[in-house]
Amino acid sequence: MSQGSGTTHPTSETFDRNARQALLDPQLRSALRNLATTFGERRRAAMATVDDWEGLRERARAVKDETLAHLDRYLESFADNAERAGARVHWARDAAEACDIVLRLLRDGRATRVVKSKSMATEEIHLNASLEAAGLAPVETDLGEWIIQLARETPSHIVVPAIHKSKRQIAELFAEKLGIELTDDVAVLTGAARRSLRRRFAEADAGISGVNFGVAETGTILILENEGNARLTTSLPRLHVAVMGIEKVVPRLADLDVFLKLLPRSGTGQRLTAYQSLITGTKRRWVDEGPEELHIVLLDNGRSRMLAHPVTRQSLACIRCGACLNACPVYQQVGGHAYGSVYPGPIGAVITPQLIGIGKAAQLPYASSLCGACREVCPVKIDIPELLLHLRAEVVEGTASGTATQRGPVKPRRWEWLAFRAYAFAWSRPALYEWGARILRVVQRPAVRDGRIGRVGGLLARLVPPLGAWTAWRDARPLAARSFREQWRDGLSAGE
Ligand code: SF4
Repeated sequence: MSQGSGTTHPTSETFDRNARQALLDPQLRSALRNLATTFGERRRAAMATVDDWEGLRERARAVKDETLAHLDRYLESFADNAERAGARVHWARDAAEACDIVLRLLRDGRATRVVKSKSMATEEIHLNASLEAAGLAPVETDLGEWIIQLARETPSHIVVPAIHKSKRQIAELFAEKLGIELTDDVAVLTGAARRSLRRRFAEADAGISGVNFGVAETGTILILENEGNARLTTSLPRLHVAVMGIEKVVPRLADLDVFLKLLPRSGTGQRLTAYQSLITGTKRRWVDEGPEELHIVLLDNGRSRMLAHPVTRQSLACIRCGACLNACPVYQQVGGHAYGSVYPGPIGAVITPQLIGIGKAAQLPYASSLCGACREVCPVKIDIPELLLHLRAEVVEGTASGTATQRGPVKPRRWEWLAFRAYAFAWSRPALYEWGARILRVVQRPAVRDGRIGRVGGLLARLVPPLGAWTAWRDARPLAARSFREQWRDGLSAGE
């Protein structure tokens, strides 16, 4: 999928090739190592500052489940209350419709200079490419997003979009694009960015933002950020357009309490983000802060389809904290661009096939070891492994109903089919299973070193192709000397 900036990017269809490429990039690997350790430690420290983390997760999930069960009602109430407060609400079925609405609003408002704050929804619909094609050039104002925009790249992480770039690469980019001296002084680099962006804010006719949460009972939108750029984007220009996925609505203002505790801690390991902008309608008096016009574009783009199925529905509980990316052993190795999607990592492997069609992203549900680390860290308890298995079944059975691209059933390879038949045959006959385990215990002996079969293991792990692929990168546990059944029988006879 080319993501519309004029450059070609890896696509979701070729995850395996993209991943192999990424594994050869030492700079990327080192950036990702830092990400996993730094964010993991910060997250754990921030979690320790609340008494009942598990209770918070339960409450957040309950709010999400309640909202999704009555999404139509809460969306209508959000739209009514937002309009009552002075906003205009627009409904977009898909990406094209959403881009058309934003473009029309900018044209109607005679806006030619546009600033934009970080928003995954606008990345998802490739809004910048659409606006650029129409002759408008929105300027990203989040530092990470701005770096990516200058480099004509796409984000590689939901929360830290330029995580794949080193300080040196950013310094070279600034020297080339801003004409400053090459320096690795972070204060000089951020100072240059600040000067350039301040001017853009001052000149802007319109600001475009995303939305973290929309409150049904008041029509309020909440935007969380750390740089103050979202607040400037939404308050300085006379026109503000907010693009909001329909799943972002929560019933009550009081519900924000639990999400404000969970999201910053899970995302960046902060107790709270530096800025929380709660926006209810337009400004009332000319002396007030805020835009004269506020438009909220409610985006479906495949979300109703996810809502319709009891398993895929939980995808819509995601609050885009990015914790599952940081915890995922696959993301930690290959980074975000390998997924070929604006949503990388475990949640990307789940959302992307549902957004663009399983046929265009059939490899993504397999981009996981199913270790469950994503489920463990997810603040809203999304069972990502369950979703991945559900999507794998759709890939195999060709049952991706309603998605943009469908494919027929995937025919298993002959050896795969035979292996699974043999496995099922043995596992459904206890005596055969027990004898098979005994034989394997003998066969594995040459491969076991220090209680492990692995890279420093023996011939078996190296030479037998399926086992060799597994142990080329990690150790495996050998079968125990006595099986559970044997130990159980021993225990029974000892007790008699
Ligand atoms: S799936 Fe969970 S952990 Fe991953 S981004 Fe969404 S909320 Fe965060």
